[in-house]
Amino acid sequence: MRRYLFIDRDGTLIEEPPDTQQVDSCERLRLLPYVISTLRWAQKVGGYRLVMITNQDGLGTPSFPEKNFWSVQNLLIDIFSSEGVSWYAIHIDRSKESAPSPYRKPSPLFLLPYIESGIDRERSFVIGDRRTDMLLAQRIGLRGLWLPNPLHQRDPSLPNAVLVKDWRDIQFFLRSRLFFIEVERQTKETHIHLQMTLYGSGAVEVQTGIGFFDHMLTLLAFHAGWDFRLRAVGDLHVDVHHTIEDVAIVIGEALRRLLSDKRGLHRYGQAIQEQLLLPMDEALAFVAVDLSGRGLIKWNASFSEAPGNISPTLWRHFFETLAREAGITLHIWVRGKEAHHMIEAVFKGVGRALKAALQREEEDLILPSTKGAL
Ligand SMILES: [Mg+2]
Repeated sequence: MRRYLFIDRDGTLIEEPPDTQQVDSCERLRLLPYVISTLRWAQKVGGYRLVMITNQDGLGTPSFPEKNFWSVQNLLIDIFSSEGVSWYAIHIDRSKESAPSPYRKPSPLFLLPYIESGIDRERSFVIGDRRTDMLLAQRIGLRGLWLPNPLHQRDPSLPNAVLVKDWRDIQFFLRSRLFFIEVERQTKETHIHLQMTLYGSGAVEVQTGIGFFDHMLTLLAFHAGWDFRLRAVGDLHVDVHHTIEDVAIVIGEALRRLLSDKRGLHRYGQAIQEQLLLPMDEALAFVAVDLSGRGLIKWNASFSEAPGNISPTLWRHFFETLAREAGITLHIWVRGKEAHHMIEAVFKGVGRALKAALQREEEDLILPSTKGAL
């Protein structure tokens, strides 16, 4: 499934002159701030195809001669190209608002072939500064990202439109969609719903019906830097086993899907958690992770207690399941006296190690493997 950004030109890529609302000479060409860096990021990291769609009222008539338009348009394309941004397609409608062609925005005719050829609807957007751009988005069933334009009011009640401040805001939004995943899994034993974003703000909400487990998952997600919302309803009248195991399956699946593109990832991560909560309460954990594509675990831990009345062997089972489903290698070593602290140190440590391994070099998108596959 392809990802597209369908992008308006005037008022969106470049400033719209308030007098004529037409950019008809190179002296009047002004790019919007951060448009180049955001589009370069979207193309390189996000894998987006960029499609320009613009109404140029009366282009080719005496009021708007061809040469005036093309001198500006060619310079604009050259500027993008010099920064590594290329356009997959450019669609120009020349009709006027008073006599619109069948292709003039908000008509979706230019964009129908993209929609029909298979498009990632969750991650494709129309970007523009006018209501017609947002109506176009609505007509092809996508969301629109609506930039402000001092000449036009925005309507915050349009259901498919997201009001954005500027191109930096757009990059933030695209990033949050790119690394977002939703997984739902239902069996006769459990029903689990997870929404998760890598590189988030650490906003975590967990409800599994098992207090100690909620606490541990919150630590894991927070220290991994994820936005994480998990609801689990399990057969706790039997015991906690199915719920803990199935939550690991769901988080593992989410990670595996989010890791489908490993270019630029650091791949390896380590974490050392040390806690000295009381002089005699001491726990120390070492965690190392490899986004290897192979799911296995090396576990070195023994506990003298069962915090939350949960057998400590279940924690090994949890991380083993998580590693298998996510396709990662996990080494976990922990020593201490207070089992609560030890388990906590492990969850925090796995979170920190994953955070380190998931860092991405966006300027250098090389697959971190000499084999050429991960
Ligand atoms: Mg515009």
